[in-house]
Amino acid sequence: MAEPLKLNFSAPRRGMPPQHFADFTVDERVAKLAELGLPKFRAKQLAKHYYQHLTNDVEKMTDIPAEKRAAVKEALFPELMTPIRQTSTDDGSTTKSLWRLHDGTLLESVLMRYPGRATLCISSQAGCGMACPFCATGQGGLDRNLSTAEIVEQFRNASAQMEAEGGRLSNVVFMGMGEPLANYKRVMHAVRQITGQDGEGFGLSQRNVTVSTVGLAPAIRKFADEGLACTLAVSLHTPDDELRDSLVPVNNRWPVSEVLDAARYYADKSGRRVSIEYALIRDKNDQGFRADMLGRKLHQALGSKVHVNVIPLNPTPGSEWDAAPKARQDEFVRRVIAQGVPCTVRDTKGDEIAAACGQLAADERESA
Ligand code: SAH
Repeated sequence: MAEPLKLNFSAPRRGMPPQHFADFTVDERVAKLAELGLPKFRAKQLAKHYYQHLTNDVEKMTDIPAEKRAAVKEALFPELMTPIRQTSTDDGSTTKSLWRLHDGTLLESVLMRYPGRATLCISSQAGCGMACPFCATGQGGLDRNLSTAEIVEQFRNASAQMEAEGGRLSNVVFMGMGEPLANYKRVMHAVRQITGQDGEGFGLSQRNVTVSTVGLAPAIRKFADEGLACTLAVSLHTPDDELRDSLVPVNNRWPVSEVLDAARYYADKSGRRVSIEYALIRDKNDQGFRADMLGRKLHQALGSKVHVNVIPLNPTPGSEWDAAPKARQDEFVRRVIAQGVPCTVRDTKGDEIAAACGQLAADERESA
């Protein structure tokens, strides 16, 4: 008899933070300001401070009347996250930030600096309900959804940090904690602010935002219909349902063929190549026949609109699974390419500080 599924799609609502500027629509901001006796144009001023000057600190918004600042702070800019610790590795080019949220929940994000670009790996939920057995976040279950502002604040903080270093945050990947498409509305609202132009957001190019999913097929289609040019990444990890049912439990609900159909729909709608994530695990999903099958299925479903990212498995505490040996990895990549599908190996920045793919678990005790 099949194991009962332990998936949690509807996150508990408990513990949601106070509402923040980034949670509101423009109209809602205007209404909030009106309650404080402030005119409409103040909303534009606040947006400029927040999106352009990257500030959350109302005391620094000196064009807002001094006697109103405390009230504006309370109504629109409550402190959502307290920095606990920042650790770095890769000669300082990778930093992991640990934050405490208003209800004590812990949250991590990772900033990776490369020559000419900087990528922020952002979290969309506290914990995750998808229960993938090789992923550290998946082991603890879902705590709660992050609010829109808790997502956006990760971006604003990292942007401010890059600016202070004389650089610029150029890319965002939703590959931190959580399943972004299971917190759909808030993630979309966050993406729209991250990419918003003309004073309505931080102005990052949509192309430089990647949303990574376990493969919630209906949500992928909905995402395609948003009309954004973001990159979709699908965590496939194996081309066959038999193994995927256990590696990515949500496969029991939406099998490989449905996920690839939805990915194709996304590629067609967005005009973007879909990225397929494949964490290579020794003796689990690293066989030559799986490489051939992967290449074949992807070529069939997506033609030239696909790229495979092989991620050497980052072992998580207590797991017996390990990365595939180098020779096996090379062979795997070669065989995928032989099927006409581009395939590259992702570097594993941050692994020494438990900041690499799948290692974000926000367990303060562990690293204290
Ligand atoms: N829920 C989203 C985002 C999560 S993490 C998703 O599943 O896509 C981003 C990527 O890291 C996913 O492809 C995930 O499967 C992968 N990952 C998780 N644990 C990993 C590990 N231990 N080693 C390598 N990759 C891992």
